[in-house]
Amino acid sequence: MYRTVPQLDSVTSLLATWFPQLCTRTQLPETSVQGSPVFALRLRAGRDGDRRGVLFVGGTHARELMNPDALVEFAVDLVVSYLNGTDIVYGGRTWTAEDVKLILESLDLWFIPCSNPDGRTKVLTVDNMWRKNLRDNPGTACDGVDLNRNAAILWGVTEGQTSCSPCTDIYVGSDAFSEPETRNVKHLLDTERIHTFADVHSFSELVLYPWGHAENQTTDPAAQRFTSLPTGTCAPIGIPGYREYITPQDLLRFTTVAQRLVDAIAAVRGSAYTPQTGRTLYATTGTQSDYAYSRHIADPELGKTYGFTIETGPRVGSVEDSFHPPDPTPIKLDAKAGMLALAQESICAFDLIGLQQLNRQTEVDTLRRVRDDVLANTEAGRDWITLVERAELPIASLLFTDDGLADRAATLIERAGKLFEDDQSVVSDEDVDLGRALLTELTERVGAENAQVRTDLKAVGAALEQARRVSIAEVLNQLTNRGPLPK
Ligand SMILES: [Zn+2]
Repeated sequence: MYRTVPQLDSVTSLLATWFPQLCTRTQLPETSVQGSPVFALRLRAGRDGDRRGVLFVGGTHARELMNPDALVEFAVDLVVSYLNGTDIVYGGRTWTAEDVKLILESLDLWFIPCSNPDGRTKVLTVDNMWRKNLRDNPGTACDGVDLNRNAAILWGVTEGQTSCSPCTDIYVGSDAFSEPETRNVKHLLDTERIHTFADVHSFSELVLYPWGHAENQTTDPAAQRFTSLPTGTCAPIGIPGYREYITPQDLLRFTTVAQRLVDAIAAVRGSAYTPQTGRTLYATTGTQSDYAYSRHIADPELGKTYGFTIETGPRVGSVEDSFHPPDPTPIKLDAKAGMLALAQESICAFDLIGLQQLNRQTEVDTLRRVRDDVLANTEAGRDWITLVERAELPIASLLFTDDGLADRAATLIERAGKLFEDDQSVVSDEDVDLGRALLTELTERVGAENAQVRTDLKAVGAALEQARRVSIAEVLNQLTNRGPLPK
């Protein structure tokens, strides 16, 4: 019913042995507390080069048995689809072979299917409700550290479901990253370009996003930031009304992507997952997904990682049955649909076309800066970002299958990137005409069923017409003051 640790390891080993062109397995730098190896599997197809990574972690909490199985089965589904050119069908939701090809050829998909092998073995043999790793805590008869309280995000601040007592199930450990199992996860975040992170847990049918330790606020970036709080206090934050800052554009991305996961899962067989902040479930610190997202704030040199926690499966019957249902098959289908949707949402059309087709790093960076530093600062600007993120995937799919269109898009990205480098440059008639011609063709090609994208492309076309023979400073002024839809 549930795979043992050696059985999980043998799936990743066989994938890497049989399909080395797609699958690479590496042993992570540290063995578990009890000396078991911990493995990561990477799936990538197509050309070499830098790309966004998506990291899925399973088995952090030992008794949540379903997810390590779901992760390795998901990897097998992707490989089979790619090699045979077959669709992936999870209940009522289908991803075409082309969808899967786009994912594997534009992203690196990383899996740590079983991050806590000691705990899993204990659950499968002697204690089916064990949650932590098997750390021998000195000076106490109680073993184990909660691996989802051990990361360096407000570590040892005992907000909500977080404790400094080794005998609890939510024990933070002796220090941030005191445990080899959590250091292994950190290792991949440190060494790979992980754009999206998902720690897959059970149960509750939730898709969680930051923050876990406090309610979110989007208005005061200065006063309330976790970076200013003391850690290791073994006390709650203790500031009345403390709310953690998150940028409006990141909050928008988290809520948008979480909703898409929820929609994909619902399409499988009607399960109703809820998207919400971690804090809404209960307060926590030191979680892996909040840590993943917090890294770029604590150290601006680091790239941004969007961190999610997925809680798979409903509460049914006993708590034991909820952690390891007699038949986890339908829940695993839901989980795999959520993971596939998350991978899909991590594809960036700019990356795909700008970087992989033409290697236009500078222009892509310029356009990103316009998005993050200019558009993100006003409501109208954020509406434009939403539009682009909504239209991105269907358009990337089109460009991916048509080299002619992709070349034209790449040319436009290059032109736009150069224009936006200087506020005083002026958009030429040729820029506008090339852009509008491509938009018209894309509108025809996306098909009538994609009504929203057609509307979006029309809005972009109208904005482009407004930009004719206008300076970039004025274009930015227009975009930040007037969104794509009449209000
Ligand atoms: Zn858990």
